[in-house]
Amino acid sequence: MFANKILKFMKLNTFFDSHAHIFAYTDKHKRDIQDLCNKNNITEVWNMSLGPENFNTVVNDYYDYNKFYKPFIGYSHDYVINLFIKHVNKEIRFFEKLAYNNIEVLELFIKYQMYKKVDFFGIGEIGIDMHHPKRCLKLVSEIQACLQVQKIFFSLQLELAKKYNLVVSVHSRKAEIEIINILQNLNYFENVIMHSFTGSKELFVNLHLKGSFIGVNAICTYRSGKPIIEAIREILIKNKINKISTISDLYLNKILLETDSPYLCINTSENINTPITLLDIFHYLVDTL
Ligand SMILES: [Zn+2]
Repeated sequence: MFANKILKFMKLNTFFDSHAHIFAYTDKHKRDIQDLCNKNNITEVWNMSLGPENFNTVVNDYYDYNKFYKPFIGYSHDYVINLFIKHVNKEIRFFEKLAYNNIEVLELFIKYQMYKKVDFFGIGEIGIDMHHPKRCLKLVSEIQACLQVQKIFFSLQLELAKKYNLVVSVHSRKAEIEIINILQNLNYFENVIMHSFTGSKELFVNLHLKGSFIGVNAICTYRSGKPIIEAIREILIKNKINKISTISDLYLNKILLETDSPYLCINTSENINTPITLLDIFHYLVDTL
């Protein structure tokens, strides 16, 4: 199973960024980031696509930068929401057909990468986000339909991950129960990294108990990140760790660090977000936990 695979894959005393969007940087930035990471004991970065327009870029980044940026591909919540808004008057059947066609493309892409022996490959980022639809759609029926369409895309991609035993980076915002129900239906927890989770401490700990990894980013430094800090504290105390001193203390408890760069900002740093921010997040956790 993947849980063993990821633990085997992790070099315990080094850092790696389990969720970033490297495709969004210029070539020069990609080179600079890799150099800086090498100097700071950050051994790899998992590079998330947001939609088909990034699939080739994340795979090219893998080859162009000596396999430092690991490719993840998938149809993100953003991609699906935009698709929905563009065709807001269509019936669900239309989106179902679209989803099946999109998944076929994704599967072909995955098979081809496996044939080319890409050594680590995942699906991400994918998920459900109801924050944005609730703000930009007017009718309750539209909001419900948007949720339904996101659920279809998320479930189909999760099925694909299960079929090929792939890691999944899951985004969840104001849709925690829906996400957990889908994971439960497919019984697919151990390959999952929950990223940008905004649910309660209890849901967080529950997901962890079921075997999911937790991706912690700069949100833990925000006021709204309190449940994340409390959940991590509870997980560590359960495992008899009162204070973290090395990164292995987190990894061995299925807590990963990520930056979601370039999109998030961290309160403790004035710089723009890059995978280097990982170190700020780690130091914040050492001081706070
Ligand atoms: Zn992201």
